[in-house]
Amino acid sequence: MTFKELNLSAPLLRAVQEAGYETPSPIQAAAIPPVLSGRDLMGCAQTGTGKTAAFALPMLDRLTANAPRRKGAIRALILTPTRELALQIGESFEAYGKYLKLRSTVIFGGVGQAPQVEALKKGVDILIACPGRLNDLIGQGFIDLSALEIFVLDEADRMLDMGFIHDVTRILDAIKSRKNLGMFSATISREVMDISWVYQRDPVEITVRADEQNKPDIQQYRIEVERGDKTEITARLLEAGSYERAIAFCNTKNMTDRLSGLLKMRGFSAEAIHGDIQQSVREKTLNRFRRGELRVLVATDVAARGLDIDDVDVVFNYDVPDENEYYVHRIGRTGRAKRHGVAYTLVSTITESMRMDDIEKATKNKVHRLKYEKGTLLDLEEGK
Ligand code: AMP
Repeated sequence: MTFKELNLSAPLLRAVQEAGYETPSPIQAAAIPPVLSGRDLMGCAQTGTGKTAAFALPMLDRLTANAPRRKGAIRALILTPTRELALQIGESFEAYGKYLKLRSTVIFGGVGQAPQVEALKKGVDILIACPGRLNDLIGQGFIDLSALEIFVLDEADRMLDMGFIHDVTRILDAIKSRKNLGMFSATISREVMDISWVYQRDPVEITVRADEQNKPDIQQYRIEVERGDKTEITARLLEAGSYERAIAFCNTKNMTDRLSGLLKMRGFSAEAIHGDIQQSVREKTLNRFRRGELRVLVATDVAARGLDIDDVDVVFNYDVPDENEYYVHRIGRTGRAKRHGVAYTLVSTITESMRMDDIEKATKNKVHRLKYEKGTLLDLEEGK
């Protein structure tokens, strides 16, 4: 399958080629034809599968092919839970639409609204938004969605987890015109199904499974270690593996601050990101990490949601995650875009050990067992 066979227009094919994509990912191959023909879509796929292009490419094509319902009106809306995701999607639209005349802008909370309002006043075709700020600006009369043609709900499950359900349904209810609704969700929960039933019309359902072919290549280790040795083993593994870009996950904001401090004391460039750190500071930290100026990003689960950083060499679960799903999300930060990844989970207490047993059972992941004792790393599976 090639992008050309998907009947995308020449300006899009050119942009896709310049982005370096050779073949459509499974979700793109499955979603682009029905979205091009105007069907609603329910896509079960995680970040990292290429889902952004799966909706952005056919959306751009349709907006270009059809005249707007009303001149100057917002024609497409993508609703996404976090600022980071919104910015990434905005960048994708810029890249894919670089040879088209459509204008897009991104709006999110936590920053002053004036520049966003200015951008809106100039007129935009495609709006990428987080629900809170979108509702604010609708309330203030800066946004009119009455001529909307296409609506995409991205990461629907997270949006609901984060308590945005009323914001989302309020927006959906406010749009009276018939629109195309695309939904993406990593998991299809009852609540996600409910939204689909109420607001979608005969959607095409697509599930991208992490099958052998597109399963990320992640070598997973579980290391038994004394609580007090966790930082030492993290530092040793970082050195031993010559990892240039690592993410270490902790369960609490406090622990992320402590761990980044401990790693700095050992001479690593490390920085923490969590919900109590100002968004602008978090953004700066992420950019430094992307540019390779920061070797270790220490994060909570919430802060790391939806991060699109392709070349993370290694993930450390400094704390065993509280939820099985978090484990999958955490280790999924590495092994992306066909690279080999490594994930270490540090297990000290009986509680952590039981949690990890549960994670292994639930996720059916193969995890190699090691033990760190008296400064030595032992392979518990040797000779097995
Ligand atoms: P997404 O799941 O939309 O967050 O995309 C994950 C990453 O895959 C992004 O960095 C995209 O630039 C990249 N990507 C998307 N589609 C393709 C493709 N067909 N070939 C190669 N890389 C892709």
